[in-house]
Amino acid sequence: MALGEFELIDRFFRACGAPRADVVLGVGDDGALLRPPSGADLVAVSDTLVEGVHFPAGSPAESIGHRALAVNLSDIAAMGATPRWVLLSLTLPRVEEAWLAGFARGFGALARAHGVALVGGDTTRGPMTIGVQVLGTVPAGEGLRRSGGRPGDALFVTGTPGDAAAGLGLIMAASDTATGEAVARRTAAGLRSDASADALEALRQRFLFPTPRIAEGEALRGLASACIDISDGLVGDLGKLATASACAAVLDVEALPRSAALAAVTPEAALRFMLDGGDDYELLLAVPPAQVARVASMPGLTRIGELRDASTAAPVTLRRRAADGTLSETPATGAGFDHFAG
Ligand code: ADP
Ligand code: MG
Repeated sequence: MALGEFELIDRFFRACGAPRADVVLGVGDDGALLRPPSGADLVAVSDTLVEGVHFPAGSPAESIGHRALAVNLSDIAAMGATPRWVLLSLTLPRVEEAWLAGFARGFGALARAHGVALVGGDTTRGPMTIGVQVLGTVPAGEGLRRSGGRPGDALFVTGTPGDAAAGLGLIMAASDTATGEAVARRTAAGLRSDASADALEALRQRFLFPTPRIAEGEALRGLASACIDISDGLVGDLGKLATASACAAVLDVEALPRSAALAAVTPEAALRFMLDGGDDYELLLAVPPAQVARVASMPGLTRIGELRDASTAAPVTLRRRAADGTLSETPATGAGFDHFAG
C-alpha cells in the first residue's frame, strides 16, 4: 500500500480508541495483552461489514467507521455486557488518506464515547471488508441470553424500529435528487419525497449512525429474561428470541413505537418498515411479570407484546384491536434478512 502498512496503522489507528488501564500491551506487538477483571465473564462478538452488502458502495467513510463498531457494540449490549477492547481487520482496495481519516474519525469517536480501546487488528488489500471483534465483560453468570424467556413475559423494545430501513431506502433511492427515476423508486418503496427535509435527514442518520444501546443493556441485567438486538428486522429477530426461549410471541401492532419522522416519510408503509426493516440495532427483550414495572419506568423502552406458549403455529403473531375493542390475530410473515436464503 502506497502509504505503507505500518505508517498507516501508526497514523490512523494507534491512538484511535480510548486509553484503558487494563490494556497491558496494545497495538504494535504480535498480540495484545489484556487484563480482564476477576469474577467476570468475558463476552466476545464479531461482525463484518462488506461494501455493497452491509452498506451502499460510496457510503461516507465516517459512517462506515461508526457502523463497523456500532453493530458489534450492539451485540455486546444485547448480552447486557460492558465493552472494553476492540480489534479491527481492515481490507481496502487502495489507500486513500481522506477516506482513512474519515473512517478513523467515525470509528474512534464511538470507541471513545464508550471507553473502548483499539488494541490490534490487521490491514490488508482487497475488496472493501471491515471485520471487527469486540471484547467486553459481564459479572459472572449475568450475561443476557436469547433463551431465557417464558410464557407470560412482556416484550419491550428500545427506540423506534423501522427508521434505519426507511433511511437506507431513502439513500438507495437517492432522496436528495429529484430526477423522475429517483422519485419513482421512492414512490415504489412507499417513501414520500415531499416530507420535510428534517424528517428525511433524521431517517438517513438512523441508518448511517445507529446508536448501540450499551447503557440500556447494562441496566437490564437481572431484569430481562431474554434479549436480542434487532439487526435483521423486528419480526425476524423476535422469532429468533421466541424460538430460543421455546415460546411463541405476540406483537400488539398499535403499541409499536413509531417515530414522527417515519410517520411523515412513509405514512402507508410505516408498519412494514417497523416490522421487517433491518439495521436498527435496537434491543428487544422479554421481562418476567415481577420486573415489568421497573423496566416500564426506564426511559426509551416501549412495551410491545408478550411471550406465550409455543403451541400456536407461527413463532410471531400480530394482534390488532378494532374500533369496537375486539382483538384479531394474524401470523407475521416477515422472515428477516438471511444472507444465504434463496
Ligand atoms: P503481524 O504481522 O504480527 O500480524 P501486523 O503487521 O499485521 O502484525 O500488525 C502490526 C500491529 O498493528 C499489530 O499489533 C496489529 O494488531 C496492529 N494492527 C494492524 N492493523 C491494525 C488496524 N487496522 N487497527 C489497529 N491495529 C492494527
Ligand atoms: Mg497481521
